[in-house]
Amino acid sequence: MGSTDTHEKCYNPQDPTLTFVDADDDHDFECDGYTSKRAKMSCGHTVTPTSLTRWCQRQLKEGKNKLECGVCKTKWSLDEVFKMALLTDEEKTSFESTLFKNFAVSDLKTKSCPGCKSQIMRKDPKNLCVRCPRCTADRGAAFDFCWQCLKKWRGPAYRSNRCDNPECVCQALVTLQTCKVIEFKEVKGVVDCPSIRACPICGTLVEHNSLRCKNVICPDCKVEFCFVCLKLTKDCSGVRGSYYSACATQVAPRQTSIPVKETI
Ligand SMILES: [Zn+2]
Ligand SMILES: [Zn+2]
Ligand SMILES: [Zn+2]
Ligand SMILES: [Zn+2]
Ligand SMILES: [Zn+2]
Repeated sequence: MGSTDTHEKCYNPQDPTLTFVDADDDHDFECDGYTSKRAKMSCGHTVTPTSLTRWCQRQLKEGKNKLECGVCKTKWSLDEVFKMALLTDEEKTSFESTLFKNFAVSDLKTKSCPGCKSQIMRKDPKNLCVRCPRCTADRGAAFDFCWQCLKKWRGPAYRSNRCDNPECVCQALVTLQTCKVIEFKEVKGVVDCPSIRACPICGTLVEHNSLRCKNVICPDCKVEFCFVCLKLTKDCSGVRGSYYSACATQVAPRQTSIPVKETI
């Protein structure tokens, strides 16, 4: 009912599932002065639906794959954010897919060492065997772990698909093999196209959400590729310029390996 143009969402003051408090809005970082009642998150800090929405959108933009309190950094569950931010179905879908993208991107770049938990960047993108400098120094002996199963490395020190731990499987490959199929609304003749593909250049997993156009832009390396035939958009020989026409080749089958970006 406000007269501002910011479309503020307000809590229903009668909602018995919310804990209202008479306190400042901890997440009104732009000092917008929202008029909704303030409610408490599980961590104890206050929000209004719009301040929470804005704060989470900011985190998504920064590439976060978990949403956290702006004061105490407690990780919030997505269900809690959905409820407390009064998100529309459209916003929920966009939150979910951005979190997924952010997760896929960060998952490729750094992992936490199973020995000391420090974040490690991988030097050789083709080798799953990664040495932790801190653990190696602390122990006075080489400490290698597996980039895939995140256990202490077992087997020869150069492997690109798996280590010798029996439970070492590539989660991304499992995802590529088992994700649901999508149906394009405006691209004719495409059947059983998987909803998740690995970027043909850098291997980042990309989920296709807009079912109109067949091209997607990789959130990591920014290349544009055809979700159907997996060629780069510039090489997909559909009718030039059209993002909706059929490809010259069939739907590319589910990927059985993940492309690795060449290091320069
Ligand atoms: Zn908090
Ligand atoms: Zn370590
Ligand atoms: Zn492994
Ligand atoms: Zn890419
Ligand atoms: Zn194509």
